[in-house]
Amino acid sequence: MKVKLVDLKAQYELIRDEIEQPLLEFLQEQYFILGPTVEAFEAAVADYFGVSCAVGVSGGSDALLVALMALGIGEGDEVVTSSYTFFATAGAISRLGAKPVFTDIEPRTFNLSASGVERSITEKTKAIIPVHLFGQCAPLNEILDIGEKHGIPVIEDAAQSMGATYDDKQSGSLGLMGCTSFFPSKNLGGFGDGGMVVTNDEELGAKLKVLRGHGSKPKYHHKLIGGNFRLDAIQAFFLHKKLPHLGEWLGARKVAAATYTELFSATGLIANGLVRVPEELFGRHTFNQYVIRTTRRDQLMEHLGEKGVDTAIYYPIPLHLQECFQDLGYKAGDLPESERAAKESLALPICPAVTKSAQEYVVECIQEFHA
Ligand SMILES: *Cc1c(COP(=O)(O)O)cnc(C)c1O
Repeated sequence: MKVKLVDLKAQYELIRDEIEQPLLEFLQEQYFILGPTVEAFEAAVADYFGVSCAVGVSGGSDALLVALMALGIGEGDEVVTSSYTFFATAGAISRLGAKPVFTDIEPRTFNLSASGVERSITEKTKAIIPVHLFGQCAPLNEILDIGEKHGIPVIEDAAQSMGATYDDKQSGSLGLMGCTSFFPSKNLGGFGDGGMVVTNDEELGAKLKVLRGHGSKPKYHHKLIGGNFRLDAIQAFFLHKKLPHLGEWLGARKVAAATYTELFSATGLIANGLVRVPEELFGRHTFNQYVIRTTRRDQLMEHLGEKGVDTAIYYPIPLHLQECFQDLGYKAGDLPESERAAKESLALPICPAVTKSAQEYVVECIQEFHA
């Protein structure tokens, strides 16, 4: 049996009729840059997050970059973030000449450890970026308290967590700014790249809008240096059609995650300590990924590959050990939980369209490997 990590085609079939006819009308308009389609989608996203301002941008990576730019972060500044995340979180910091201060994770959730964040703060710290990895919130109350105590803004990397909640609030809406991504495999995926910055700070929202268009306001008058970070109108069109389905898709992810956990429990692999399944500790988990921990990870991945089951490693090298960050002076052993996670984590196929029989097959193959 062939099991794909993410089945985008199956999801598209569910909404094809809602998209294809209106798309032809959208194309007739020939209106591609910002304008009413982007504005309508921004309003819908602001509503979804329960914030006053949503600014469509070219991707989740640029959302982080422009959020840091809006705070004026640059040379000599430090930004505290996780070592165990997608590269973009730290790349945005370094691209502005600031220094990412890599902090270790809490092993049960793969998310930033709040006590680690506290220890990483110096007088140069200008922002904290918690990442809601795999779709579950980082310990936000503690991190927001640390930010408040030291007067440091918190920018949430909610690229993997759109729809996750913390204290009944949407992930991304609790910090000063939240950044999300519409990369096709994310909870709300576009037909290409896209992202959004959300905030309740109207002044910041206005600044973000200026920065995404080369800092031009009024046109051809530049008080700020921005960039071209615009969300394409055609992506806003697709995403707006998909947004009403997000709730049902997150529900399907949750059911699929519960199914895996039940299947694993029945095998005895958890009891024998051979597999650790994800735990839902902080609010509503969206299971953008279902990541297990297992000791003979690489061999298991190979075995599953031979059986037709696609898996992925998020992430094989923690950021503090990446070659491009060598000059920051970290060495192996500095952040042991991130390093262990990089050796043990394995993402199993999950998406709203995954079938129970596919999941049963995946777990059978894992059981067979350990037999
Ligand atoms: C996907 C992702 C990003 C970047 O989003 P893009 O839209 O691909 O630029 C940033 N941070 C995290 C944690 C991500 O998973």
